[in-house]
Amino acid sequence: MDDQQGPQYYVGQEGVQMNNMPCAGCRKLHRRCNRDCVLAPYFPASQPEKFARVHKVFGASNVIKMLLGIEEERREDAVESMVYEAHERLKDPVYGCTGTIVYLQNCVKDLQGQLKATQDQRDQLINIIMNENTTTFDDNSNFICNNNSFCFSLDQFQLI
Ligand SMILES: [Zn+2]
Repeated sequence: MDDQQGPQYYVGQEGVQMNNMPCAGCRKLHRRCNRDCVLAPYFPASQPEKFARVHKVFGASNVIKMLLGIEEERREDAVESMVYEAHERLKDPVYGCTGTIVYLQNCVKDLQGQLKATQDQRDQLINIIMNENTTTFDDNSNFICNNNSFCFSLDQFQLI
């Protein structure tokens, strides 16, 4: 690096002290990196692929604009979000993060359906049991029934 201002020292996000090492962003953009570099705290030289992803998806100038538009204490979260979104967009150029969100929403719907079906079965079983005049409870909430094929504990119904 042809730095005319002398050696530069700063501590990156990972606590790694860097000497005359441009951050991954400046290195990729072939520009000088200094103490005021907005990219340096979030894109250390040791993780060039991290900046490469967001650069490819969002463009470096947009990444810098986004970071400058966010208060400093929230920039790390914003970078993590951009990196995740870029990763997903590169994996799935059509849907990106939306594909993952829709997949997970469908999983939630399926699980809610399974839960509802299980609760309905539980309610049906309880109704059957309650209609059995021969069924009673012992001291441990276990059913005592004359029909051995249908005995179980109330503890099995603690789904909710
Ligand atoms: Zn830099």
